[in-house]
Amino acid sequence: MQKSDLIYEGKCKKIFKVEGASDKVWMEFKDNLTAYNNKKKSSFTGKGRLNRDTSSLLFQYLSVSNHWVKDQGETGMITQSLSMIPLEVVVRNRLAGSTAKKFQKKDGTPLSSPLFELYYKDESLGDPFISSEQAVVLGWSSIEEIDQIKTMALLVNEEFSALCSKVNLELIDFKLEFGKTSKGELLLGDEISADSCRIWTTKGKRLDKDRFRLDLGNVKEGYQEIYEKLKSAI
Ligand code: UDP
Repeated sequence: MQKSDLIYEGKCKKIFKVEGASDKVWMEFKDNLTAYNNKKKSSFTGKGRLNRDTSSLLFQYLSVSNHWVKDQGETGMITQSLSMIPLEVVVRNRLAGSTAKKFQKKDGTPLSSPLFELYYKDESLGDPFISSEQAVVLGWSSIEEIDQIKTMALLVNEEFSALCSKVNLELIDFKLEFGKTSKGELLLGDEISADSCRIWTTKGKRLDKDRFRLDLGNVKEGYQEIYEKLKSAI
């Protein structure tokens, strides 16, 4: 595969066209680390590779249809080209982060069942929480599509949580993004990595991006532990 023009550069990934394959794109995972809507920035060597490897492992493991085609080099991934739905889909098994703060609950507060949430992906608005009704009426998705996204996200949660428990990890929450192929097929896209999940050891040690957000140190070691443990569980 040959990389051609840069289509898009985000905080942590670059997306290129693939020579002679308009239905595919080439994603490059960068070493950058950002939090709080880009207000806090850092990086570490090997982060791009760890996130590519973690995402690749999960995309190949999960049964939900997704955009992964193959890995490319150390930090690249060939994926199906998708027209992205501008929603951040979050599933929570325990309250942490923004929703814990919103309701003044302790991080780690258990929930009676997995909580499905939608956020509108627009950095200038701070990715606000939105209802399914808002997403439909404002034209970002259809009710049928949201039902399908919810089913897929909850299935990812079941399979990913079960994988984590095999190696004494607990999946606290995660964010997914979905998109459609030119043929209209809905696929799970973007990445699933320590940047987009909260994963704790069963003893409550945080291994994910919260190590960076909360200045807990050993960020790389946390990302590495998530990858190594998930790999050993498959
Ligand atoms: N998340 C993400 N990208 C975002 C916002 C959230 O990957 O732009 C992930 C985050 O890492 C966590 C989950 O989605 O695993 C829920 O995040 P939350 O709403 O608690 O927001 P945060 O605490 O990141 O502000």
